[in-house]
Amino acid sequence: MGKYFDKKYGSMVPYVPGEQVKLDGETIKLNTNENPYPPSEICLKEIDKALARLRLYPDSFGGELLTELSRFYKIGSDRIFVGNGSDEVLAFLFQGFCEKGAAFADLTYGFYKVFSNLYGVEKQIVPLREDYSLNVDDYIGIDKTIFLANPNAPTGMAIPLKDIKKLLEQDLNRLVVIDEAYVDFGGESAVELLDDYDNLVIVMTFSKSRQLAGGRIGFAMASKDLIADMNKLKFSFNPFDVDGITQYIGACILRDEKYFRDKIELVIFERERLTIALKNLGFRVLNSKSNFVFASNEKISGKDLCEKLKDKKIYIRFFSGERTSPFVRITIGTHEQMSRLISEIDNIMRSL
Ligand SMILES: *Cc1c(COP(=O)(O)O)cnc(C)c1O
Repeated sequence: MGKYFDKKYGSMVPYVPGEQVKLDGETIKLNTNENPYPPSEICLKEIDKALARLRLYPDSFGGELLTELSRFYKIGSDRIFVGNGSDEVLAFLFQGFCEKGAAFADLTYGFYKVFSNLYGVEKQIVPLREDYSLNVDDYIGIDKTIFLANPNAPTGMAIPLKDIKKLLEQDLNRLVVIDEAYVDFGGESAVELLDDYDNLVIVMTFSKSRQLAGGRIGFAMASKDLIADMNKLKFSFNPFDVDGITQYIGACILRDEKYFRDKIELVIFERERLTIALKNLGFRVLNSKSNFVFASNEKISGKDLCEKLKDKKIYIRFFSGERTSPFVRITIGTHEQMSRLISEIDNIMRSL
């Protein structure tokens, strides 16, 4: 820490993103849950029109992007907040909606802990069960704001809508934030509960299922009042957080629903194929409803498997920590990528 830095941030531990590797023809990048397909060609063709808008400040509320979100999710535009990736959206929720603290699982999205520390939010860690499942009964009696990724990361496991409802009913004055970053790959969205529960916030992103991790769009859906409060925070910080080009492309992406559905179908197909292949190689594979799998094999640690695959120019991810170190997290790629991955893992397991 340099001598001018505020002491209160001295011990802060920032989030560590997965490695952004240089992509040559051979390298396969399966370490940060990006979509293996490019954004829809129809939308990429619109880029010149988007560029022409650069003269103007972007619409602080999301403009056409907000209109398309409202249409897609059938919810009023005054109930949607648009931000610079869902990380920023989550940051605002930790900053302004956690007066009593925040509660979340021991194994979940790493940013929840980071944001708690950044904003001085008291945190309560609620361990997942032995089999990595989340039981909502474990949250009974907790009055802190709850952050729950569904499907969860890095396990990929999902809980059903009826459990979300149970969680909301436990305490109607307690805010519950459901992070649905991966919901399009097979989870049950809680969007339909929004009209009945004003203690529900749903956070989504364009980074995983909509091919736009580099564009940075995240959004929240909640009651009108809560969204107005989120905008208060944003307009006190950076009203122009999502650039005009990204907004324009984002609106187009929401209109090209066929491309969206087709690519999701491919990812799900490859996920199921990879799951079967790994199980055949003796792996334990958690039941994933996301665009990645979390798998372990007694014969090799997560770290060692990662390193051996890296030698073959395939990048996946491991996590330290007692409960996660046996596992690797593998993002689902294209058919060709998954075939090469499976054959390299097969070689590695034979060589042990
Ligand atoms: C990837 C991810 C995010 C962040 O997505 P961005 O919109 O790219 O910031 C949020 N939550 C979870 C659980 C994620 O895996």
